[in-house]
Amino acid sequence: MYRVLGKPRPYYCLCLLLYKMDENLSEQYSTLAKKLHEKTTSFDEVLRTLTHINSDLRDRCEKVLNTLATLNGSKSQKTCSVCCAREGDTVFTPCGHGLYCAGCAGRGERRGRCHACRGAVEGTLRVYV
Ligand SMILES: [Zn+2]
Ligand SMILES: [Zn+2]
Repeated sequence: MYRVLGKPRPYYCLCLLLYKMDENLSEQYSTLAKKLHEKTTSFDEVLRTLTHINSDLRDRCEKVLNTLATLNGSKSQKTCSVCCAREGDTVFTPCGHGLYCAGCAGRGERRGRCHACRGAVEGTLRVYV
């Protein structure tokens, strides 16, 4: 049982309009679907390239990390370059020279001159490598 109450509601007109547009829309839809398919195909290609680049980057990062690990290993055994006796673990600021032992770094700091570049020493920094 269907009964129209009062004037037709706005969505009623909209439905009619959509029905008229239906043929045109289905054509547009197939065009869009085709475009979507093309985009998906090219996206797949981009994704493959990206995967390749990503694995290449990962390989390079591993190499860098390995090199860093090797460097860190050798640095931790480094002796002070001034007295060549004790372990060097202190650098001067701001020039950054160092890996001197605490004693030699202290002497350089009191003198106010860097052992390497003779630049002004404002302080020392203990490094952990
Ligand atoms: Zn020293
Ligand atoms: Zn220096």
